[in-house]
Amino acid sequence: MSAKDAPPPLPEPLLVEVADSHTHLDMQSGTVEEALVKAAAVGVTTVVQVGCDVKGSRWAAETAAAHSNVHAAVALHPNEAPRIVLGDPDGWSRQGAREGGGDAALDDALAEIDRLAALPHVLGVGETGLDFFRTGPEGIAAQERSFRAHIEIAKRHGKALVIHDREAHADVLRVLDEEGAPERTVFHCYSGDAAMAEICAAKGYYMSFAGNVTFKNAQPLRDALAVAPLELVLVETDAPYLTPAPYRGRPNAPYLIPVTLRAMAAVRGIGENDLAEAIAVNTARAFDY
Ligand SMILES: [Zn+2]
Ligand SMILES: [Zn+2]
Repeated sequence: MSAKDAPPPLPEPLLVEVADSHTHLDMQSGTVEEALVKAAAVGVTTVVQVGCDVKGSRWAAETAAAHSNVHAAVALHPNEAPRIVLGDPDGWSRQGAREGGGDAALDDALAEIDRLAALPHVLGVGETGLDFFRTGPEGIAAQERSFRAHIEIAKRHGKALVIHDREAHADVLRVLDEEGAPERTVFHCYSGDAAMAEICAAKGYYMSFAGNVTFKNAQPLRDALAVAPLELVLVETDAPYLTPAPYRGRPNAPYLIPVTLRAMAAVRGIGENDLAEAIAVNTARAFDY
């Protein structure tokens, strides 16, 4: 393994324990136990495990049931819903969905998400939303139908809604307004600018910042973080993606939360303990644990 593929070193531990509000342990190397031990060693003592398809959502629910410090979110990812309907063979696994795709297959998959969302260890419905970067025009209708269904499921079960919004800010906000957002709504990997952060603040939406807030070209994201109300700010890895600087391109994991959190504290001009305390309280409030 070359140095550029190697896992980054353990950062200095945080003195205040926080949660990684969004991770994908099933896409990372090593066992769940190894990831949790490593994360806890640097003060990241809670993780929200996010499912992206039926199989991953079942796994998230099972993993949360087996570990008291793992909470689950379940959903069909915005790029998964069109694959189910259109039958893209390169998609994530589609267990539970009918062969041949179509709207009936999406309904079947949504019914399973609905069933999982009722489980006590499942605290979130997501990641759902809109992704105009990876999904082309032919998939937009399925994506929006799936998003609306997830909003309804989250509200009916009283769970947090976890939003994936990629190059779709205005439409995500529009659909939330049209459906009526759940009481607790989290924009995962927040990617809007400062103006959108003001809108999210007014609506009471949580903004969860990932490692890309550390990237050199991400000044608009840092401007958003600077104006976001402290009580709505969360931190996440979205691991294995979005490894924070200076480790960009190397494998990401929940134990790297301190790197992103310290960069965020610098943006806000507050101490890391103060930010960690706020984030710990915010994450527990957002997911109601
Ligand atoms: Zn996402
Ligand atoms: Zn994710």
